[in-house]
Amino acid sequence: MAGGSSQGSERRRRTEGCLIGLAVGDALGAPLEAASAREARVTVEHGLEMSGGAGWAPGEWTDDTAMAIALAESIAAHGLLDEDDVAARYIEWANGEAKGIGATTRSALTAAVGADDARSRARALHEQTGMTAGNGTVMRAAPIALACSSSAETTRAARQDASLTHADPAAGAASAALCAAIQAIFIGDDPLDAAAAEVNGHPQLTHALRSAREDNEPALAALAAGPEAATCWTTLAIGLFALETADSYAHGVLWAIGLGGDTDTNAAVAGALLGCRHGRASVPGEWLEPLWERERIERAAQGLVDRRV
Ligand SMILES: [Mg+2]
Repeated sequence: MAGGSSQGSERRRRTEGCLIGLAVGDALGAPLEAASAREARVTVEHGLEMSGGAGWAPGEWTDDTAMAIALAESIAAHGLLDEDDVAARYIEWANGEAKGIGATTRSALTAAVGADDARSRARALHEQTGMTAGNGTVMRAAPIALACSSSAETTRAARQDASLTHADPAAGAASAALCAAIQAIFIGDDPLDAAAAEVNGHPQLTHALRSAREDNEPALAALAAGPEAATCWTTLAIGLFALETADSYAHGVLWAIGLGGDTDTNAAVAGALLGCRHGRASVPGEWLEPLWERERIERAAQGLVDRRV
């Protein structure tokens, strides 16, 4: 019989698995960011280890984890969602070293003085370029799903968080879709169905999720290595395909990295989903051991469990 405390430890196991899984995927994929599909595949086939490279130390994670931790710590401290606090943490980070920060996020945050200002800068960039559907929001959104039991509230918060840096509605929809998929894992629903219900007919998101649904691996590989490499739909669909087809955390994350392209972010999202499904213990110890600031990530996970509404 499942009592309150066993449900509590189950929630902690999956919540930690999600955040640790995100950070480990990010750190493992970082040295191969922008690699060709061939180079990435050969590296994975020869046995990718958490040994760093391309300017990254072993276990060092990138902007994906930095922003996800900032969001998790804000939620743990102030609930879901204090956008002024979230924006302040993002802005402070963006004005520091901000290793790996994406162009859209940088444009919204570095000169911003608060949430409203960041949002109008994000909108201005979108009006100028029409290209702000990058994966910079879906990579960080997981803590929202972990802190909230209401799907309507989760969708609202995911879109609100995304709008701080990315004005394209696809970015907010992708964040909401990732969060819905994570919540589906907790309650035993189908994550792909849950994600698809959030995309509101957006054509690229719909198409990418259909490729994941139909096990169309060549279509996802083409997205990963092509001009839509770092879009929110490519990363979301790769993460969901890894979740649905891999039999372990390690296999799914390595598959995502082996596609090349935005390897750290694809592996961060795949890692969050797989870590949530299989739990923290599924993350290989040799990858976990060198992970930067592991205790901070564990504290953030506990904070989300304690704050859950
Ligand atoms: Mg990154």
